[in-house]
Amino acid sequence: INWFPGHMNRARNQIEEAMPDIDLVVEVLDSRLPYSSTNPLVDELRVGKPCIKVLNKADLSDPKITKLWIEHFEKQDNTHALALVAEDHKQSQKLIQLIKNIVNQSEDKKTNIRVMIMGIPNVGKSTLINSLAGRYIANTGDEPAVTKRQQMIDLKNGVVLSDTPGILWPKFENFHSGYRLATSGAIKNTAMEYEDVAMYALEYLSKAYPEALMTRYKLEVLPESGESLLDMVARKRGCIRSGGKVDLHKAGEIVLHDFRSGKIGLLSLETPEMMVAEEIIAEELI
Ligand code: GDP
Repeated sequence: INWFPGHMNRARNQIEEAMPDIDLVVEVLDSRLPYSSTNPLVDELRVGKPCIKVLNKADLSDPKITKLWIEHFEKQDNTHALALVAEDHKQSQKLIQLIKNIVNQSEDKKTNIRVMIMGIPNVGKSTLINSLAGRYIANTGDEPAVTKRQQMIDLKNGVVLSDTPGILWPKFENFHSGYRLATSGAIKNTAMEYEDVAMYALEYLSKAYPEALMTRYKLEVLPESGESLLDMVARKRGCIRSGGKVDLHKAGEIVLHDFRSGKIGLLSLETPEMMVAEEIIAEELI
């Protein structure tokens, strides 16, 4: 999906309209890139309501770093955090428990807690909704809904989900965020070249997870640049075109596929500390 200003306005208006009826917001994030997979509007649109940041895809992210992110979010106002794997019904039930604890803590015992699930495309919102419901409901796709229905999905456990799709666009203002989103697969590869995204990912991984990278691709050394790294992977994996030229596109596909399916290891693309540094640089640029 390409987000045009019309889409953005529609998404925003729908969320604003539905928000007065909501008791708690669940923002789904990709735990490998919690900063880049957020849209800061969530914190604005929730107008002071409690929020649980769900760090999803915890089966793919580095558990040590995910823990740091949980601590980071829990320091924020009226904000809670939980790492999970959306498909896992047992884990999604922990979210229900947390929702109940939070809402009943702050208000009279609510019979039906009204929750809106929000997030950018591809973080796992539909997967989570289906897992919470224990059946197939959501195929939210990645389009903000055109039809306006104010229905609720009754989970029959004291929690109802708003079916207003809380879908927001990924933020692109930061160069790194664009590449990290592309690495995770959240933005389509047509926007950027496979090779470029893979080079970016390799350069980062070679610094953050050198051993995992060397093991996966049987590398003895790690060159500095993403281009040399990708070239090396291509040779190791026999990505050679007729004529003997290395096929960097093919190698890029292998690397991104490996990353997205966890084959290189449990990896995170950003830490809370890195984000502080990046935000300072961004502010200096303005
Ligand atoms: P949405 O666009 O936010 O509704 O995201 P989807 O629910 O459609 O999920 C996007 C992709 O991520 C799908 O391929 C899911 O199978 C996958 N996915 C969702 N949750 C998890 C998870 O916890 N772990 C892993 N490994 N994949 C997940």
